[in-house]
Amino acid sequence: MEILMTVSKFASICTMGANASALEKEIGPEQFPVNEHYFGLVNFGNTCYCNSVLQALYFCRPFREKVLAYKSQPRKKESLLTCLADLFHSIATQKKKVGVIPPKKFITRLRKENELFDNYMQQDAHEFLNYLLNTIADILQEERKQEKQNGRLPNGNIDNENNNSTPDPTWVHEIFQGTLTNETRCLTCETISSKDEDFLDLSVDVEQNTSITHCLRGFSNTETLCSEYKYYCEECRSKQEAHKRMKVKKLPMILALHLKRFKYMDQLHRYTKLSYRVVFPLELRLFNTSGDATNPDRIGPNRGHYIAIVKSHDFWLLFDDDIVEKIDAQAIEEFYGLTSDISKNSESGYILFYQSRD
Ligand SMILES: [Zn+2]
Repeated sequence: MEILMTVSKFASICTMGANASALEKEIGPEQFPVNEHYFGLVNFGNTCYCNSVLQALYFCRPFREKVLAYKSQPRKKESLLTCLADLFHSIATQKKKVGVIPPKKFITRLRKENELFDNYMQQDAHEFLNYLLNTIADILQEERKQEKQNGRLPNGNIDNENNNSTPDPTWVHEIFQGTLTNETRCLTCETISSKDEDFLDLSVDVEQNTSITHCLRGFSNTETLCSEYKYYCEECRSKQEAHKRMKVKKLPMILALHLKRFKYMDQLHRYTKLSYRVVFPLELRLFNTSGDATNPDRIGPNRGHYIAIVKSHDFWLLFDDDIVEKIDAQAIEEFYGLTSDISKNSESGYILFYQSRD
């Protein structure tokens, strides 16, 4: 089970690329995993939101394997996915075991494709993760569509199979997609109506001094719809009070949990960061789904800086742009957040990746 995480970190000490070989020494030649590479990524001006997500994804094994497999397919025209595949391939085929790589082509492409990221400002790592996964899924679906058309048109067959249906799931969906059920129970006639909704990541509200498990429980709390929020019941043919509940129906292979650490403060007219202490277990049991013990990794925002903490083989590694360090498992606790609301920046988990056990 891989545990991956990316976290935020404030005011990193400047230790520019000093310790790549120190890391290799620290792990030792016998312990260094075969075919594994620990490479830092150069920061191109506030691109740590991107670097931290890329590192987390690189250490999501199923994801990395699919991206590398894509690289070995016939050359396609440049897209965000080909740039990602080139980057992963370049890390995976390095002669050295540790070092630094500039993800220049990827960043250039990203800035070209989405104006949101076309600047030198800090961006939201969760937004970027979401954009990247959706873009890759779109590219794969478009390519499949093209292949189908190319395959069928010569025979004059009309492809009417998939015209109006939803596209087939891609490997992005196979890895990250889960399903939520929205259940609404009319309090008058007790009829339950439910609607499924797919997700690639889950966003949960955070509270002070809690745990991920607690936040997830809050996620599926029952909400009463009343007064002006009454629900239109098809059975009763009128607006009724109802109970609404969200449940996870199907967990993905890798669950990306986004902790909503940015909250809009009406008085301030801006978002502030919640450094709440939220404990996250290395093994997570979810939603009464027996046997679904899982593993985490994570991502976090802070004012200005993101880092990734990754479990690779038996090591915990901290990726801070071009710096890679080995850390102790106990050090993970430093990324839970703060117990008090003093206005101090802290390192706190922002996105956690949990991989389900088979
Ligand atoms: Zn009803």
